[in-house]
Amino acid sequence: MEYDVVIGLEVHAELKTKTKVFCGCKNEFGGQPNTHCCPVCLGLPGALPVLNKEALKLAIKAGLALGCEINEIAVFERKNYFYPDLPKSYQISQMVRPICLGGHLKVGEKQIPINRIHLEEDAGKLIHSSDGAVTMIDYNRGGVPLIELVTEALQAPHIESADEAVEFLEKLRQVYIFTDVADCVIEKGQMRADVNVSLKPKGSDKFGTKVEMKNIMGFKAVYRAINFEIERQKQILEKGGVIEQETRRWDDTAGESYTMRKKENAQDYRYFPDPDLLAVEVSREVVERIREEIPMLPEQLKEKYLSLGLSEYEANIIVKDQNLIDFFEKTYKDCENAKAVSNWLLGEVSSLAKEDGQIRIAPSDMAKIICLMDAGKINRSVAKTIFTKVWTEEADVEALAKQLGGSLTDAELESMICQIIENNPKAVGDYKTGAEPQKLLKWFVGQVMKESRGKANATKAEEILKTKLD
Ligand code: ADP
Ligand code: MG
Ligand code: ZN
Repeated sequence: MEYDVVIGLEVHAELKTKTKVFCGCKNEFGGQPNTHCCPVCLGLPGALPVLNKEALKLAIKAGLALGCEINEIAVFERKNYFYPDLPKSYQISQMVRPICLGGHLKVGEKQIPINRIHLEEDAGKLIHSSDGAVTMIDYNRGGVPLIELVTEALQAPHIESADEAVEFLEKLRQVYIFTDVADCVIEKGQMRADVNVSLKPKGSDKFGTKVEMKNIMGFKAVYRAINFEIERQKQILEKGGVIEQETRRWDDTAGESYTMRKKENAQDYRYFPDPDLLAVEVSREVVERIREEIPMLPEQLKEKYLSLGLSEYEANIIVKDQNLIDFFEKTYKDCENAKAVSNWLLGEVSSLAKEDGQIRIAPSDMAKIICLMDAGKINRSVAKTIFTKVWTEEADVEALAKQLGGSLTDAELESMICQIIENNPKAVGDYKTGAEPQKLLKWFVGQVMKESRGKANATKAEEILKTKLD
């Protein structure tokens, strides 16, 4: 039997604020355990939370970048459950009125709908001793601002494969990094996903029962967990079994998942508005001001690059890397030859940067080199020489161009060629009688370039050489 796969994602990302979401403690990864804590984030009786406006602003910014509506009134609610990493025994989150609603993110050609993005607080971290005898708690992470984005799996188009889920997460990460709302370092747990998977008979409009896998770290793990779950459900359905609604934990080392809890004991969080926090009114002026701060996003940049004449291939490589985008943008600002900028960037610049681990030429210098070439003041080979010198010795582009540049007049070129032909009678003979005249012609061009220290125009030199030799 053929099945349709339906996937819903719940993605948590830690916001890049200086302080936590409801107190003034540092929002910083790591640190001595329990040193970024205060009565508020430790949940001591009588302590009162105060909303960090910066966190709210970043949540709004993330939402705007994803095309969400921003709720005019956002309400914070208590999500009640007991777990040692949550000292208050409730998490301050949002249920009925999240800060962002709707929106979408493009995956392949599909606009995947987003249900909501809400603002909440992160929990502390449990550290189990290797023998399992002791569990320690570090509350430094408790109270760090989180946004949780939930995709809309029950609307078309939805995510249908592990590949699409990973692409969604990669694109989302890019959007967060571009808009500077979150660093999303996976290894630091700054971006984590819950994955919901269900299967239904191909073409059926009745959705299957979903299984959720919580807190998967890393995109590869997400990919494997989804494929494992699809296969597990397929096998059950093939045997005529039913899928039980449950939460499973993915064990990436073992490469399999196991049951955490079944629906029978699904948690009831008893959400209610937190009486310690006022509802927040978000004025439209504030929203518009935040909207203005949003830079061009990868999708839009790609459109722009295509319209500047770059190929799909080039545009895709550049928009994947903030360093390449910065270099492209700055260079292009000074010399409006997009194709040349892209050629240098993806050619010489990238290959040297790979060796050195960084780009060692200023965009303004790169732009100067391209402009000099476009103006016919230097040829490609001189341009390359200058480029290498600037890269390795921080040389001055204009001084070098004066020294090495300037093209030969036609007469100079012709007399140089005559000289070279005269000095190499054997090569001339081989050219006329040998099996590989084309190779010898190239050799002659090489001699001209060498003699002229790169100032000659290679195409022109080849033409003249051919007429003379023939
Ligand atoms: P829960 O209350 O169990 O967390 P939600 O309604 O919040 O469930 O949905 C969580 C995620 O699961 C959302 O992305 C949602 O679109 C997705 N989802 C809901 N139903 C299904 C289903 N049948 N198959 C796959 N994903 C689903
Ligand atoms: Mg949920
Ligand atoms: Zn605190």
